[in-house]
This record gives sequence, structure tokens and C-alpha cells, in this order.
Amino acid sequence: MLIFRQLVDPKSSTYTYLLGDSQSGEAVLIDPVFEQARRDAALLAELGLRLTYTLETHVHADHVTGAWLLRRLFGSQIAVAKASGAVGADRYLAHGDQIAFGVRRLQVRATPGHTNGCLTYVLDNESMAFTGDCLLIRGSGRTDFQQGDPHVMYRSVHNEIFRLPEDCLLYPAHDYRGLTATSVGEERRFNPRLGGEIGEDDFAGYMNNMHLPHPKQIDIAVPANLRCGRPDNDAAGLSEPTWAPLTYTFAGIWELSPQALEEVAGSVQILDVREPSEFDGPLGHIRDARLIPLGELSKSAGELDPNRPIVAVCRSGGRSAQAVAILQKAGFGRIANLAGGMLRWRADGHPVVGGGE
Ligand code: FE
Repeated sequence: MLIFRQLVDPKSSTYTYLLGDSQSGEAVLIDPVFEQARRDAALLAELGLRLTYTLETHVHADHVTGAWLLRRLFGSQIAVAKASGAVGADRYLAHGDQIAFGVRRLQVRATPGHTNGCLTYVLDNESMAFTGDCLLIRGSGRTDFQQGDPHVMYRSVHNEIFRLPEDCLLYPAHDYRGLTATSVGEERRFNPRLGGEIGEDDFAGYMNNMHLPHPKQIDIAVPANLRCGRPDNDAAGLSEPTWAPLTYTFAGIWELSPQALEEVAGSVQILDVREPSEFDGPLGHIRDARLIPLGELSKSAGELDPNRPIVAVCRSGGRSAQAVAILQKAGFGRIANLAGGMLRWRADGHPVVGGGE
């Protein structure tokens, strides 16, 4: 089965696409964003996928790619167009190449015009294509910086994208109006710059008179992306918490296992956010746990020591996840959730105070 997810980086309005093959567990990410690498890593882990490739549609001017960082985390291969001029990739792509993930494949099509190295990735059965900043939904990428050329872009769209099947879904690298996907048929008819009877010179006239402001991130993003997202300082990137072995969840919080909590229990504050009747009820509680019911946490957070890490605990790990969010908002930095709560703590055989069999 094909696994498909569309992810967004809200700051740059960049779409990242995850494509996976459930049978083999192999997956690729198209256009990952540096700052979202932790999110993407958590999603891959929760879906049981192994990242084999990061694929760039082009050298971006508005965000730094997560390719280098993800390679460091997963050993994934970085693939980028040969024509992009980027250094440090594992594979340099050209028109006609294929990228395999499990039994599925993406076909590489060269679609220059926004930059020289722009690629469109087409799924094996031509049901989906990832157009980068070439064709956007009812729009197109800019042609006024990097190696932009509206004449080249017009031919890329008409020869490589508009010739795909009518119902082939198109997924761009960006949308700034809240749209997520389109189709070849729709864009052929309704794209105001490139659809209908609009000719190459009409398009060039349109694009050459847009007078758009210079992108804010271009001076940082382009040099970094020409190194596939490798920072100036290799130590930069994800700073993992070191106070306990933690896992970052796709839900956006740090978790630790009962075993990990047992190991660090002496150096952390254990915060139990259940009701008093549960704290002294059949499940019991963890030694030295401090009881602040979730409903009182906002006003009582000041009682906690900001200099010691906090582990939030409840029955099953749900309310304590909310407690983590509340304390993060209150400014606590080192805070994690006990995965599975008291139920898993007991099931794994860790000691409790009180409680019954
Ligand atoms: Fe771009």
C-alpha cells in the first residue's frame, strides 16, 4: 500500500511530502524543511517507515532543506538535480531517472524555468506528481531570480506536466492561500498564467512584469541549500535533551518510558496530575511523586522547581501530555511525559506506593 502524507511548514508555507511503501517500510521525503526534521523523524518512526531518500525539487530560496540533518539522523541519501549546482549530495538526478522506494517508483522529469535544477517527481502510475516551484495551484513559481526564465518554464509546464493524464493530482512546493492540491485538467483549464490559450510570449509578458519583492530568506537559504542544508557548524541542528533518554512524538511532546523514568527518578521531579482519589486509589502512585491535579496546574505551576527536570504522570499518559503542554507554555524547558502513565508503569513491573493488586 502507498502511504502518503502532505506536511506543511507554516513559516515558509512549504509543503513536504512523505511517500512510503507499507510492505517494505521504505519511504522518501520530498522537500523536507530543516526546522521540521524532528517532526518528520517522529512521523516516520510512528508509521514504522525507514527513510531511504530525501528528494529536492530544487535549490530553495525561502527555507533551508532538512536533507543534511535527516541524513545525519537516518543515513538517508540526498538526491538533487545535477543541474542544481548543489554539492554534498549522494545522488545527482537527471531527466528520466527513477527513484525506487519498496515496490514503488518516482520518475524524475526536468522542469527548469524557476531555477535550472528544478525537477518534477511523477509517481509510477501517473496518479500524482510533485511539481516543486514550477507549476503552483493556479499559479507558477517566480522566474525573476536564481536562473529563472519564463520561456523555459512555459515549455516545462506544457511538455512535462500538462501532458500527464487529466486526473493526475499535482502537489506543489508551496501554496499561500490554503490550497493543497490540484489536477492536470484543472490547471490546463483554469491556470491564469499558463492554462487555456495562453501562449509562451503571453506568459513571459506576465512574468516579466510582476515586480515582486526580493525573498526575505534568499541570502541565507540559497547558500545553505547549495550545500544540501549542511550548516556552517556541523554541531548545529537538533539539540537533543540530555537529562533522560527521551522520544519526540509526532504529537509534539517529549516522552520517556517507565524504564527510563526509573533510571532518572532521583534527579527529576515527578508530577502526578490525577485527582487525589486516584493518587491514593487502586493504581497507587510513584514514590516521591507530587500531586497537582491537572485542573489546578496552571495556577500551581509556580510551586515546581524550574531548575530540575519534570516528568508528568497520570493514569494512561493522556492528561499528563496536556500537563506537559501547560508547563511548556508556562516556560518550563526540561519536561517530559511518562508514556502510558501509571497503567504501563505498573504493567512493566515498576514499584508503586499504595494501590492494590
Ligand atoms: Fe523556489
